[in-house]
Order: sequence, then C-alpha cells, then structure tokens
Amino acid sequence: MFMKIPSLKSVTKKIEITNLADPELFYVPLKSYFGEMKPLVNVGQKVQQQLPLAKGKDGSLVHAPVSGEVVDLSYQINGLPHLLIQNDFANTVYINKEIESASAIADKIRLAGIAGSGGAGFPTHIKYDANQIETLIINGVECEPYLTADYALMSDEPEKILRAAHIAAKLFGAKNIVIALEKQNRELVKVFQSCIDFSDDISFKLLPNTYPQGGELQLIKAVTGKEIPKGSIPANEGVVVSNVGTLWAIYNAVENGKANTERIVTVSGTGAKKYGNFRVKIGTSVSHILNQLGIDLNQTDVVLGGPMMGNIVSDLKQPITKTSGGVLSFKKSETKENNCIQCSYCADACPQHLMPMQYASAKFDNDTKKYVQFNLSDCIECGACQYICPSNVPLMQSISEGKSLLKSLQNSVAI
Ligand code: SF4
Ligand code: SF4
Repeated sequence: MFMKIPSLKSVTKKIEITNLADPELFYVPLKSYFGEMKPLVNVGQKVQQQLPLAKGKDGSLVHAPVSGEVVDLSYQINGLPHLLIQNDFANTVYINKEIESASAIADKIRLAGIAGSGGAGFPTHIKYDANQIETLIINGVECEPYLTADYALMSDEPEKILRAAHIAAKLFGAKNIVIALEKQNRELVKVFQSCIDFSDDISFKLLPNTYPQGGELQLIKAVTGKEIPKGSIPANEGVVVSNVGTLWAIYNAVENGKANTERIVTVSGTGAKKYGNFRVKIGTSVSHILNQLGIDLNQTDVVLGGPMMGNIVSDLKQPITKTSGGVLSFKKSETKENNCIQCSYCADACPQHLMPMQYASAKFDNDTKKYVQFNLSDCIECGACQYICPSNVPLMQSISEGKSLLKSLQNSVAI
C-alpha cells in the first residue's frame, strides 16, 4: 500500500545548491555496506584531499574530504569507528592517477568509492557488475517529506546526471533509460528535455506523489510492471535503478577523476531557522552544520536523513555519510509511546505486506525467531508503519535492532 503524506518541501524546493564552510575536524565513517573498513593511513600522517583513507573487504574505498592530519583511527560514535582528520584548510589535492588512468569505467567507479546515495549505500561497482540489462531507471523520486537534495541536483545539474546515465547504460548494455519523477515535480521533464539529444533513447515516467514510491522494488514495479521475485535482484530481471546522486558522483569520477567525497544535503524541519540544499563533505558533523546555520542544538531534536527512514541523532558529532540526504531539526517532541492496540494499521500501510507489530512484540519478548518467522529481512525500512501507528509504538527501533541481530547471527554462522 502507498500512503499520501505531506510533502513539506516547498521551503527548500526552489533553493539552489550552495556551499557550507568546512569544519576543523572531520569524522569519516569506517563502515561500508559490507561492514567495517580497514584504514590505509596512520595517526599523524599528513593527507591530501582525495587520498584513499580506508578500504572495505569488497574493495569499497573512502577518501579524504580535505587535506590535513589524521588524528584518530578508531573514534567511536554510536558504536562505529570513525577516522578523524584535522583540517589544515590548505585544500591541497591528491591527484588520483589511478582513477584517471583506469581504462574500465567499472574500475573508475570502484576507485572513486561510489556507493548508492539514496538507500543503504550499496557499492555501485558491485551493482553495475551486470549484463543483459534492458532498462536503467534514473531514480528521481525523492518521496520522503522535507528532502529536496535530489530535486536540487536535477534542477541545477541535469546534464551531468544524463551524461552519467549514458555512461552507466553503455557499461551494462541497457537499451532504455527511464527517468522516474513524482508528478509534483513534473517541471523537471522540461529541464531534462532541454539537454537531451533527439537521438537519445530516454523516456519519462511520472509517478503519483505517494510514499514509499522511491523504494527500488516499488519503483521497478511502477516503471516496468515487473515484480522482483523473492531471493532475486533487479539485475537478474534486466533492470538497474540508480539514484540521481549516485549518477552525479559517477559523472565526477569518470569525467573529472574525482573521488566521492561530498554530497548534497537538505537542511530543513520545523526547528530550522535557515534552510537550504548544501554541498557538504562526507565526515562533516551534524553539529557543525547546525551551528553554521544558527540552529539552537538545545531546543531541537535532529534527524539524519528523512523523517520516515532517517535516524534520530543521539550524538551530534555524527557525520554526513554517502547516504545522508538531509539534516532535519524539529522542536523537541513530547510524544508519548504507548502499547500496541492491535489496530493493524501498520500491516495495512506496509508496502511489503509484513506485520510490523510482530517486530515490536519480538523485541519486547526478546524472541529472535519471531523476526525470522515474520520475514523481517523483507522489510525495506520505509518507516510507513511507524508513521501510521496511532500508539507511537517504536516500530522502527525494533526493526533496526532486529536487523542488526539477524546480521550478527548470520556473520557468526559464516565465521
Ligand atoms: S499500528 Fe501500532 S497500535 Fe496498531 S497494530 Fe501496529 S503497532 Fe499496534
Ligand atoms: S515493516 Fe518495514 S517495509 Fe513494512 S512499513 Fe514498516 S518499515 Fe516499511
């Protein structure tokens, strides 16, 4: 089921992308989709912007967002290690000859450390290791309320997104490119059309303004009519979906030899005094962003990401990652959590046809088997159940804890 939820985007939708001043200290997360990354540098080492800092077991890389000195390799924030860089504000740049000279596009993408910017941060070099692809879907559906970072990119830099889409389509042989947009953003069709060649095989699909329309499986169904079978992946069915932010990073890597060290972030929310779409370097802390914009940290609850899928920030040193599309501040909430009243609204709202109330029950009973029994692994963490729940049962908390628990059990079995 899809839900109509308020868009709340008008305040930032038409604001052009601008830069934010860099902080003195960067907190670079040492975690990729497949787990912790191993540092390639040492404490005390001077680094230049763009130098590879750490590598994951799948080959994923993270690079220095600025030049400076490495001051810590295992600084813990929310139980995850971060590499700290003291910014020297000299902005000296490491010329990454490897990216420039890589002959294969897939190598350039891996060496630039590109990960999906709109979801869980899946490494793009693995996603693009595909063939017999019919359709590349450019995901311009940014269905979370408040967020306009993707809109700003499409509006300000459409030619880069299109160029990268052609590069990607050529890489895995896609015959069609479809740009998926929400109807409320139909004006972007003209923006893209102004940079499309008549020979281009690009079409548009306008989708309803509902949630969670931008989820990969939901988008594929809406654009191609295909349902991805359980246990399969979109590439097996001839489809690849790429977010506009990911394509922007691919353009920067392939055309300019640049590593993925920055992204566009929307700052908004009822507690924000200043709003906008900002170009922010990976590793910039939430507190730095809010301070720059004069937002009172004591008066607001902060969410990293969107209000549906994002996380409440418990430590304001938490940094922008490759997947953080927003920093939202809200007046401190006094919402009370109550017990489940068995209304089933959460199950009705779930696009994956799950029974989210069972995850709250699994957490309460400390019953891991229930997470498996009720197919928690099929949950796409869209937050629709949490949004609809009249009792404010902390469903997303139980889902996130349940997923971590299952992942650690899988890892221990694999070991
Ligand atoms: S919506 Fe909330 S109260 Fe209703 S069944 Fe789900 S968890 Fe329980
Ligand atoms: S259970 Fe998962 S997929 Fe279903 S509504 Fe909740 S967060 Fe979304």
